[in-house]
Amino acid sequence: MTHSMAEKVYVSFDGGYSIKTQYQQPDRYRMLVDADAGGYARIARGGGYSYAAASFGAEGVTQEMGSFNRVIRFVPQERLIEVEAGITLGDLIGITMPQGLWLPVVPGYPGIMVGGCIAANVHGKNPARNGAFINFVEEIALFHPANGVTRVSRSANPHVFELTCGGYGLTGVILSATLRLETLPGSQLTRQRTAVGSLVEAARVLRELSDTNAFAYTFADAVPAARTFGRGFVYSGDFVPGSVSRKGGADTYQKMTSEKRALLPVSAWQGGLISRMFNTAYWTMEAMLPARQQITLFASLFPFAKKTIYFYLFGKRGLAEYQTLVPLDQAEGFLQELQRLILKKRPPALMMSLKAFRGRQKYLRFERDGICTTLNLIRSASTLEFLPLLDELVIASGGIPHIIKDSRLPGEMVRRSYPEYEAFRQALHDYDPARLYRSELSQRLGL
Ligand SMILES: Cc1cc2nc3c(=O)[nH]c(=O)nc-3n(C[C@H](O)[C@H](O)[C@H](O)COP(=O)(O)OP(=O)(O)OC[C@H]3O[C@@H](n4cnc5c(N)ncnc54)[C@H](O)[C@@H]3O)c2cc1C
Repeated sequence: MTHSMAEKVYVSFDGGYSIKTQYQQPDRYRMLVDADAGGYARIARGGGYSYAAASFGAEGVTQEMGSFNRVIRFVPQERLIEVEAGITLGDLIGITMPQGLWLPVVPGYPGIMVGGCIAANVHGKNPARNGAFINFVEEIALFHPANGVTRVSRSANPHVFELTCGGYGLTGVILSATLRLETLPGSQLTRQRTAVGSLVEAARVLRELSDTNAFAYTFADAVPAARTFGRGFVYSGDFVPGSVSRKGGADTYQKMTSEKRALLPVSAWQGGLISRMFNTAYWTMEAMLPARQQITLFASLFPFAKKTIYFYLFGKRGLAEYQTLVPLDQAEGFLQELQRLILKKRPPALMMSLKAFRGRQKYLRFERDGICTTLNLIRSASTLEFLPLLDELVIASGGIPHIIKDSRLPGEMVRRSYPEYEAFRQALHDYDPARLYRSELSQRLGL
């Protein structure tokens, strides 16, 4: 049976790639399993919050998973929850929090879905303490037409489990997953703001605070102006003990989609002056607030939930997010060189953020011991000229780029920077010689 298909335009969250393509919106397993998708290649789509075109492409059908959003089994005493892959993180936290449980690794927007978190092996607010999403995945129910539904875990089909976590949807459709939760010490956190004058200072403070706090990350001014570049704040925080709320449901948040994000015809940041004014206003306002504040768990996990305006202002042309993970011993040199490069080439850079990471690098997963640097730029011709220079700096520093964050990232860059690129490609082809699941990302990366 062919489940009905229609056509629409998808756009990557960064605005860098868009295409009209076929899609399906199955709402029963039977539709998904029986859908022969007209013999086309296919790819699953979660919330569509990837900066790269990871859940659609020129070839094949996108299968939207949003209707599969139920809780299948939840036994709070075992601290395990089995959910369908289309459940959003906001809904998941809203369900586990009243039971005094939480998932310590969640990315910054509540509309992101569990399937997308597994496929991109995402990280949260303190990857040095909690690692990446894979650490909290116990088992996955995976569908591929050649194999039917298989259960994959560290003990059952472990090679498929390894390929699927951080496998960008290329092994099939994740139908559901069993996640390991942790006891929630409180639903209120204290947030401490520490002012820093440079990126190197931020990285040092961050490393100290990551060991002792539930979350730790920085924000810094990246506008190419020598006097202000790199100034910023390290945000860290921990739970207020005993503050667990029994209130269910996700907090309300501003629903943004990648298509809505691109609605403004032009970027409101428009060159250096507005960006500088924005950053100055931000630092001044932050500095006026108390350095220590109490915030909700929801606000600490999803800092962008009520600040979506930041993304809308980049307009149709969009933004470029460059995220890279550089080994600890190279991090300071990398940050100094990055500063030199930005001040010399003056791309329209806006904001930067750092996080400390611990983890084991495997296949194409964005994980290792190191410092993660995230740079946001206005998408423009000068940005696209600047990013290849950054690619070279990352290679020279022994770093890896985050594949899910950059719709431009050349396949060659991934081949050069990820030591297990070829091992991943080979294992994927051995698992599925027909290579049925494909996206623009997989085509660009030569997978
Ligand atoms: C505001 C914002 C903040 C973010 N913060 C972070 C952060 O802090 N840390 C971080 O790591 N990332 C972050 N991200 C990136 C985001 O977490 C990833 O791009 C994530 O993969 C998006 O998931 P999604 O549900 O939107 O899925 P999509 O973007 O639709 O898809 C992502 C990938 O998952 C695959 N996929 C989705 N569902 C399934 C399924 N059921 N079965 C098989 N494959 C599937 C797709 O094929 C695709 O390869 C952020 C993004 C935004 C917009």
